Amino acid sequence: MTLLPDNALRESRCLIDGEWITERSSFPVTNPATGEVIATVPRLGAEHTRMAIEAAHRAGPGWAAMPAAQRANVLKRWHALILAHAEPLAQILTEEMGKPLSEARAEILCGAGYVEWFAEECRRPVGEVLASPDATRQLSTVRLPVGVVAAITPWNFPHAMLARKLAPALAAGCTVVAKPAELTPLSALALARLAQEAGVPPGVLNIVVGDPVTIGSELTANPLVRKLTFTGSTAVGKLLIRQCAETVKRVSMELGGNAPFIVFDDADLDAAVAGAMASKFRNAGQTCVCANRLFVQAGIYETFTQRLAAAVRDLRVGDGSQPGTTVGPLIDERAVAKAQHHVDDALARGATVVEGNAHLPGNFFAPTVLRDVTMNMLVARQETFGPVAPLIRFTDEADVIAQANATEAGLAGYFFTRDIARAHRVARRLEVGMVGINTGIISTEVAPFGGIKQSGYGREGGSGGMADYQDVKYCCLGNL
Ligand code: NAD
Repeated sequence: MTLLPDNALRESRCLIDGEWITERSSFPVTNPATGEVIATVPRLGAEHTRMAIEAAHRAGPGWAAMPAAQRANVLKRWHALILAHAEPLAQILTEEMGKPLSEARAEILCGAGYVEWFAEECRRPVGEVLASPDATRQLSTVRLPVGVVAAITPWNFPHAMLARKLAPALAAGCTVVAKPAELTPLSALALARLAQEAGVPPGVLNIVVGDPVTIGSELTANPLVRKLTFTGSTAVGKLLIRQCAETVKRVSMELGGNAPFIVFDDADLDAAVAGAMASKFRNAGQTCVCANRLFVQAGIYETFTQRLAAAVRDLRVGDGSQPGTTVGPLIDERAVAKAQHHVDDALARGATVVEGNAHLPGNFFAPTVLRDVTMNMLVARQETFGPVAPLIRFTDEADVIAQANATEAGLAGYFFTRDIARAHRVARRLEVGMVGINTGIISTEVAPFGGIKQSGYGREGGSGGMADYQDVKYCCLGNL
């Protein structure tokens, strides 16, 4: 395999019908750690989006008709190329998004994992022969690609969130028009460059960047698009569901979370502190599944608080590209203002700072631990999306489950206990799509990722992950 030179991966044009295109109107992409402009990308509008959709529509029948083994081979080559270019991909990711290089490397491997998984799944078509109610007919089902898929992704995992959508869509035989977040388009363009290199034919994968409202309106209104897959905030998700109603598109929604993280008195405290650090401070707390509310049982509240604060003191905030950095900047000044607002609101309502809350320059935010937090504070009611750990004291299992479930979100939840009966009980009663028991990290391509309640619907990954991109066709053969 020939490696692409690094500058070939630093693509700042959009991809439509196999052509890399520019546009007179453009906008800058900045490094959140330094404020430096690192690229200028085209600001595409409705017309280019339409061209991309039409290209995807034209490419659809050929891609869907390709034998699954051949599509799998394209995905396998793509997977190998991602791994071979993991280091420059991670550097681009850190530059545009800010996360520490070690986390960027892990994200590239995570995205590659989805591509590999769906290259394998692609070769395992699912269909059914049904027991007929009478002897004159034979009943069966097949699964067919839905057609053109629109994919809209957020800035917090600009590589993995896109790979997690592209891999199952392409494996299923769909073609795609993807719109990455305008804050972080470069990882998506680099990923598309490698897809092209792997042999994804023109039109099968298109990437458009620009004003989200204009592009989103075309993607949702255009009848050639048969499915929208969205990862982002609940507010935008609701808007897009409404927009898709007019043309009755299939929709998958991976929306915001407000994850409870519960530590019972009988927990292994080393594991609970390590789990809280991983779940809360990874990606500077800008993770949809990250612990947003930490409920700690009264018997271990003081010990846990001190031990978590000590671990937080060891974090190193800085530019993600610098060795030793464990917490990068937040994505922009709005994110800093929101996290600070949540801390200030908590302090005004009676919480106290155990660690952090020091003012840092630019987009940096000091990892913070708050104690004596109560459920009426913003930090417990909304997704903070920053490195703030609010500690809420509880005494009773039934009470904590009720508090954990007292939110419209239902993405992830975590708890730590050594009691196996409680593990089963609490796992079942938490109203979430995913639950981590004695671990703070749950994501893997092998398992279905997704939420319930207002965190959305649809599942990414796992053995059912391709079904979100397939229609079931029932065939009834009569006159036997
Ligand atoms: P966002 O909703 O602001 O943006 C997400 C994407 O939607 C971006 O590409 C943006 O450009 C686009 N967008 C915004 N307005 C649009 C419009 N009117 N029409 C079409 N597209 C539009 O969210 P964000 O700030 O980028 O991401 C953070 C949010 O994403 C958090 O709430 C987080 O929990 C959520 N998230 C969820 C998951 C999950 O799997 N459930 C994963 C990552 C992030």
